[in-house]
Amino acid sequence: MESDLIKLNIDGREVKGKRGQTILEVAYEHGIYIPTICYHPKISKTGACRVCIVRVNDKLLRTACTEPIMDDMKVVTEDEGIIKSRKFVLELLLMEGDHNCLYCDSNGNCELQTLVQKYQVGPIEDTSLRHNREIDFTSSNALKRNEMRCILCGRCVKTCNEIQMCRVWGMCERGSETHLIADDDKRIGESTCVKCGQCVQMCPTGALSFQTVIGTGQNWELTKESSICIYCGVGCKIDFYKNQHEVLVKALGNEDGPNRGHLCVKGRFGFDFVHSPKRLTKPLIKKNGNFEEASWDVALDLVAKKLTEIKAKSGPDSIGTLCSAKCTNEENYLLQKFTRGVIGTNNTDHCARL
Ligand code: SF4
Ligand code: SF4
Ligand code: SF4
Repeated sequence: MESDLIKLNIDGREVKGKRGQTILEVAYEHGIYIPTICYHPKISKTGACRVCIVRVNDKLLRTACTEPIMDDMKVVTEDEGIIKSRKFVLELLLMEGDHNCLYCDSNGNCELQTLVQKYQVGPIEDTSLRHNREIDFTSSNALKRNEMRCILCGRCVKTCNEIQMCRVWGMCERGSETHLIADDDKRIGESTCVKCGQCVQMCPTGALSFQTVIGTGQNWELTKESSICIYCGVGCKIDFYKNQHEVLVKALGNEDGPNRGHLCVKGRFGFDFVHSPKRLTKPLIKKNGNFEEASWDVALDLVAKKLTEIKAKSGPDSIGTLCSAKCTNEENYLLQKFTRGVIGTNNTDHCARL
């Protein structure tokens, strides 16, 4: 019977992988670096960008992200010929677009920029292949789009189709005319996009970016704080990025949460309230028709007094409580415990059933 384990040699190292795995998957499992752009472990394999080419059995150049491993295969991840090919691919990508990093939201956080710097490509003077594509910074209040920076890796298309199941992005035309479209070529703000922002999180360049980052600072100035989304009981884990002025500028899904890196529109963009001057930070008590600020002690004493009075006058079943998905499980547990144990009624429910 054929063994499920395959023995191969990558850069002089004897390694093992499972039958059906690609060269890239086995290399990554063993800490061996191979550059990629269109590859992402969360979406199906594309093999489009050709940056991950490796030499197989001393002659063939293959895309490591799609090539299955074989018994006794010999793989070289970088040599003079491979470097030449990677540089050529990167040069073509730069030639087709407009990559002036100074004006790009992804400057300092761009997979293309990283590889261009690594392989010392450019400067590019030949602009004959440059396409005139759409720049749409205004149609959506969530996403910014600069197709002049799109390298047609297809990660956004697959993310929207395979993960979010929204099927907004697609590729249109063929060959050098291939370009990205939303729905049947609508502006993104007029398309069926639900603004989850997942395609932006997966885009390796500045072709897609969040409206929230405009003018907020450089990528290398941002610091990350992980937290839990406050909007529903799924409890998605979010990495919030704040700038030097302690202002939150973007939210990315954290891979370690139940959401496994994904977010919906609420978790992705619903954080502007944090800095709102209208945010309530102190209890308010209504006096003579107007709300007046009070201390927590005064407010809680008043609530306790009123609840005691109502219970004495009309009985515990005249009182009810509503918990919320915006609270933690522990807080919700405490509220129902308080309602049943202290007030003495089963009138406790969840705001989702309002
Ligand atoms: S997409 Fe990347 S390479 Fe292109 S301009 Fe932006 S930072 Fe530079
Ligand atoms: S934001 Fe979400 S729904 Fe909209 S195009 Fe991107 S992945 Fe699709
Ligand atoms: S918009 Fe970004 S993710 Fe989509 S194809 Fe272009 S570069 Fe790739």
